[in-house]
Amino acid sequence: MLRYSALLKDTKPYLTLQSDLAVGKLNHCYMIMGEDELAVDGLIDLSCEAILCKERGCGKCVVCQKIEDKNHEDIFEPKNLKADGIREFVEKVYVKSVGDIKIMIIRALDKVDPKVQNFLLKSLEEPIDGVVFLLGVIRQSAVLDTIKSRSKKLTLAPFTKKQLTDFFDDNYIGKPKSLVEEAVDCCLGSLARCESLLGDEEYFGDMSEVIFILKELTSTKVNLKMQKRLDLKDGKLARYLDIMQLICGVLLKRKSGVFVEGFERVNVLLDCFNIATLVNFNELIIEAKQKIESYCKDENILDNLFIKMMEVKYLCR
Ligand SMILES: [Zn+2]
Repeated sequence: MLRYSALLKDTKPYLTLQSDLAVGKLNHCYMIMGEDELAVDGLIDLSCEAILCKERGCGKCVVCQKIEDKNHEDIFEPKNLKADGIREFVEKVYVKSVGDIKIMIIRALDKVDPKVQNFLLKSLEEPIDGVVFLLGVIRQSAVLDTIKSRSKKLTLAPFTKKQLTDFFDDNYIGKPKSLVEEAVDCCLGSLARCESLLGDEEYFGDMSEVIFILKELTSTKVNLKMQKRLDLKDGKLARYLDIMQLICGVLLKRKSGVFVEGFERVNVLLDCFNIATLVNFNELIIEAKQKIESYCKDENILDNLFIKMMEVKYLCR
């Protein structure tokens, strides 16, 4: 049985596919779209089970087992996402299948160069009987409109806190309950983020530090002592910046009236910054991340970021 299958089977993409199967109207191409890569990936496997298993995805039979072991003879994936990989993949459309249906999978179509995405067009324009494409998409903007328009689009919404809480109540994963609760609270409905939070027990301590420091940015006088609280060893700067960006993103949504479930811990900062300040903070954090890639010294990047943040806070007051 696939991990998270109970959760994934309760999503709109999966239920839509099941109802297409029930009325015998399987589309020739499904595009599963969502920001949660782990969920999109799992949904692709579950969709294969639904299509190929006699019981529409029991998770136990030989067919389902082969799918989960990634060695089903009628499922094809490109060996890489470059031109040669996709070209070879498209040729497999014409190989005769063992059973009645052949499934062609690209798990991250948005990572394929748009020029190379074009190779798929012909197979999508002239569907072949018994061939179904399953395309996973994280960033919709990176996919050609011509491909989108030829696919049945299945959009995955973030999971609710209740769905995740219920799932982890029913499925013990060997992690302390308090950690599971924190991860569920801060994952914004994404399984991918939830999983990485569960595997990283220091994350929440680091997040508390970042919240504390942002809170202290209240005065306009440069208080660089604060940032010395952050321990910059082992490339931790990138992680602090990620956390900061996440926090600013949540605050910005809340201040703009967009509902965000969970993440109550950042509310201590709600009155500290206005919308203009948060928008600018986001830009500054992106800039700082780019500086890491160009090998600037971590201490200097952080000094610079804090000085600019305080400037912005003053200017946008
Ligand atoms: Zn089965």
